[in-house]
Amino acid sequence: MTGPVLEHLGEVRLELGAARDAPREGHWRQGKAGDGIVWMALDRPDSGTNTISKAVLLELSEQLDQLEQNPPEALVLRSAKPKGFAAGADIDEFTGMDPEEIEEMLREGHRILDRLGDLPCPTIAVVHGEALGGGFELALACDWRIAVEGAAFGFPEVQLGLHPGLGGTYRLTGLIDQVEAMQLMLTGKKAHTKKAARLGIADVVTEERHVAAAARACADGEVERRGGGLRGGLKSGALKFSRTRKLAARQMRSKTEKEAPQAHYPAPHALIDLWEEHGDDRSAMQEAELQSFARLVATETCQNLVRVFRLRRALKKRAEGEDGIAHVHVVGAGEMGAEIGAWAAMRGKTETLSDLDLDALGKAVKTAEGVCGGAHLGAAETRDALDRMMPDPNGYGVRRADLVIEAVPEKADLKTKIYKGICKDMKPDAILATNTSSLLLARLSEAVEDKARFAGLHFFNPVSKMQLVEVVRTKATSDSTTQRLAAFCGVIDKLPAPVRDYPGFLVNRMLTPYLLEAMVLLDEGVQKEVVDRAALRFGMPMGPVTLADWVGLDICLDVADGLKDELEKPVPEVPDWMRDMVEEGHTGKKAGRGFYDWSDGRPDPGEGDAGSEDLTDRLILPMLDACMECLRLNVAEDEDEVDGAMIFATGFAPFRGGPMHYARARGHDEVRDRLQELSESYGPRFVPDEGWSRDG
Ligand code: NAD
Repeated sequence: MTGPVLEHLGEVRLELGAARDAPREGHWRQGKAGDGIVWMALDRPDSGTNTISKAVLLELSEQLDQLEQNPPEALVLRSAKPKGFAAGADIDEFTGMDPEEIEEMLREGHRILDRLGDLPCPTIAVVHGEALGGGFELALACDWRIAVEGAAFGFPEVQLGLHPGLGGTYRLTGLIDQVEAMQLMLTGKKAHTKKAARLGIADVVTEERHVAAAARACADGEVERRGGGLRGGLKSGALKFSRTRKLAARQMRSKTEKEAPQAHYPAPHALIDLWEEHGDDRSAMQEAELQSFARLVATETCQNLVRVFRLRRALKKRAEGEDGIAHVHVVGAGEMGAEIGAWAAMRGKTETLSDLDLDALGKAVKTAEGVCGGAHLGAAETRDALDRMMPDPNGYGVRRADLVIEAVPEKADLKTKIYKGICKDMKPDAILATNTSSLLLARLSEAVEDKARFAGLHFFNPVSKMQLVEVVRTKATSDSTTQRLAAFCGVIDKLPAPVRDYPGFLVNRMLTPYLLEAMVLLDEGVQKEVVDRAALRFGMPMGPVTLADWVGLDICLDVADGLKDELEKPVPEVPDWMRDMVEEGHTGKKAGRGFYDWSDGRPDPGEGDAGSEDLTDRLILPMLDACMECLRLNVAEDEDEVDGAMIFATGFAPFRGGPMHYARARGHDEVRDRLQELSESYGPRFVPDEGWSRDG
């Protein structure tokens, strides 16, 4: 093979023409190809993913010393990791630093990327997989960007309470349409290959085997810039005037305020400010970006969102190991089963799906197409995923499956009847998992032959959007079963939360008082919009009335009735009119009508009265109390798991760092006393859990 070729064959190998003996230590490997182009591959030694750490930048700086002295024909930067280009800055490096230190560190980083941008030769970034945050900024500092099919670019910093800090704010707005650039930074969304090319982020889109030729073409200036009208068009020209930018900024601000209120999420608002003020002055924007970033790192929101990032990492860690699961059989191809099947097939599992209803199996294939489309799979990958998913009306797949997931309607008799039928056909080491959301596993397991291989695998709806899966164990479930199920979650890119069999498990136990208290408030005559706004004001992603509609009032009723009989603590009574609504078919989103009219999409409670703080406490504190109960009874292992589960299953106000973190910030004594007060005013359902006193 000639020329520089990156081969992803097991261990990644960089073949660099003459420089086969390129140093293996450090983060960068460099070699010169026969045609005079220097290739540098980023290859963080101790990880499968590249991050843009201080060490990466300092080593780049050393390489630049040589390149400035002796400029090559062109310089190509790429990643030696099969996974992708680079996943952003190393967030752990910011821990414990004060804003001045952060500013100084960033300043050094800016100097290095500026030097890269100022090299007298063409600089080319080749991006496969994802170039995020600092990785995207590194690519933006180059003259050209070649995207390998499937690549994506993005700035997820807002999810950490930040905005880009290594030059992204002015480099991206300087490169493409400014409003599009701001949208990408404000939403944290990724621009996948096609969009990246349309916007002008990627100059070339090609396949891996043509990368060397594409780099040569960029080096020779033979590539026409992409993004035409979106680059330096009329609109971008107009935005150079501060009055036009002010107008655009005002619109951005009001839209952003709806999605991410400034009081809770200062970063996107700070980004709008700095663009509005300095959008026409690159060096002023650079200085403002540095200072603003350093200020944001110190905010409570940023610290809590970094906590959320770490909680995700900790849950992922629980998913390590082998699952020993190649073939999954799903029984029941309804709303949940179809999506679970599609998702697992998309992630490489062989899948069979059985259902009594042939129409459901037909719809499941359509669902799978939608799931693959939503994940931006190409035509070939979608076809492969669909090939792996086989409708199996007679359930023959049970005999070959390593994991059987049952997702039939929430009726204990039906489920146990199915278990009795399939257990004898299952392989001796296969696992049987139920997706039940409210039935106790101990009872269901009575129908199962080998209870050690029976557990819950509780996915949330919609499966493709919700990251969490509760892995529920009974007293009889073996460690190997729970470990394999957690590893299975990891393989299919979900976050496992191991929990004990308990009414509602962890997440529904916590959500039920939130939903039912809302029903009590409606019963008291409070308007549904006011109830929803009280929760939104706290930072919940959806008010409880909207959420009840979203989940389905019939399902809420099932869960509430199940919990009422099982829990020691009183739960709010379900009002009769809610049962009437279900009987009349007004079950919420799926029926087009519940509390709200859903015919035009998700309802918006609008702005206005959000009730008293009392009202918010009545909704939020019982959730915290349920968390404490679950911790006291070892339903979940620790506070971090509870916080992670609530954030990744329900979107619990991420900027507050999770319910238990919020309880710590507010003070356990204060939470307990407030619950006590509420119990005196509104009834025994608010009596604080004994764990608050113990855990001061
Ligand atoms: P669903 O009614 O949409 O689908 C159930 C499917 O099972 C139907 O297609 C039905 O034809 C099929 N079925 C019925 N009897 C069968 C049998 N004997 N053999 C094979 N298939 C059979 O239900 P769903 O909403 O997907 O719920 C399934 C399970 O998932 C329930 O236990 C529910 O509690 C749980 N769950 C639901 C949600 C949700 O939001 N829908 C969320 C989490 C968990």
